[in-house]
Amino acid sequence: MAPIVIKLGSSIVADDRGEVRIDVLTRICEEIAELHRAGRQPVVVTSGAIARGMGVMALPIRPRGMDELQAASAVGQGKLYQVYDGLLRERGMQTAQVLLTFFDMSARTHYLNARQTLTTLLSWRVLPVINENDTTATDEISFGDNDFLAAQVAVLVGAEELILLTDIDGLYTADPRLDPDARIVAEVDSFAALRDLEIGHTTSPLGSGGMRSKVVAAEMATAAGIPTTICNGVRPGTLTAVLAGEREGTRFAAGEARYSSFKLWLKYAKPSRGTLVVDAGAARAVREGSASLLPVGVTDVRGDFDAGDAVEIVERRDGASHALAKGICNYSAAELRQVIGLKSGAVRELLPRATEEAVHRDYLVLD
Ligand code: GLU
Repeated sequence: MAPIVIKLGSSIVADDRGEVRIDVLTRICEEIAELHRAGRQPVVVTSGAIARGMGVMALPIRPRGMDELQAASAVGQGKLYQVYDGLLRERGMQTAQVLLTFFDMSARTHYLNARQTLTTLLSWRVLPVINENDTTATDEISFGDNDFLAAQVAVLVGAEELILLTDIDGLYTADPRLDPDARIVAEVDSFAALRDLEIGHTTSPLGSGGMRSKVVAAEMATAAGIPTTICNGVRPGTLTAVLAGEREGTRFAAGEARYSSFKLWLKYAKPSRGTLVVDAGAARAVREGSASLLPVGVTDVRGDFDAGDAVEIVERRDGASHALAKGICNYSAAELRQVIGLKSGAVRELLPRATEEAVHRDYLVLD
């Protein structure tokens, strides 16, 4: 059985004063322990380090400065982890604290190391309790409240489910606090159908994520073939109900898992450092024939990247840029600028040691 990634948002982990919501955590840990006893493999991704640190330091409001947010997280993280460890040990489970960053995951060897560590912990029946390493990274503090981290972890461990526990019942058709006609969206089969919803603005006032980052996280995980549910972790029994297949919150159906683990890493973990604009012929060859991208098909190079960096590949059509793919470029931006639009023979004359493909098809993933 594959792991189940359960993410707990700041709003259910800590209250407004930064005290741990021990009643909520105790209940969720009980449900996690039950899963564990049943032979399942839960993995926890938790926010709340900043909130807890604010409580300890008696900070009246969430600090604005990134340095203070990072420091608050450093104060809170150990204390937060202790709560999980205590609650889960009482229930017969061993836990491990794991702190990750996007930057770690953007290097393939580090990504594989993280996967190896998590896989070994799970084979020992130890529950990983994961947070972002906020001392060195700021991604999830700025936006996301660990929603992306949870989706990345789900992809990393090849989870069978991703469950995002928050303090509202799921994704609504409108902001339920403002619109009495707002309804829960029970099932999402296509993200295109969500375009009309004002998801960006219907965020929870607590934490740095809100609904938007949850939907993006769901999009990431479902594209990797992992069904995702956004549901209310404050309500007793939610986790158990979701895993029993009962109707809870908003369920995003898994897409077809069409990418290898390498391509998932490329798509979601490796940051892009630039953009290649390609012509219509190259775009068609890449999209329909899964072909490699040659310098001859590139019309513009944006950004300043090194060979081996990831780049976005876009097609210019009808006066607008259309996302096409992401890939690892064999040329630096400076080298590629010298040879764009040139056929392979001419490229070899200018750059004798260069590879023929600007982006090889094996290192390219369609949007
Ligand atoms: N890593 C952060 C935490 O544990 C994420 C949540 C936030 O932005 O407040 O607090």
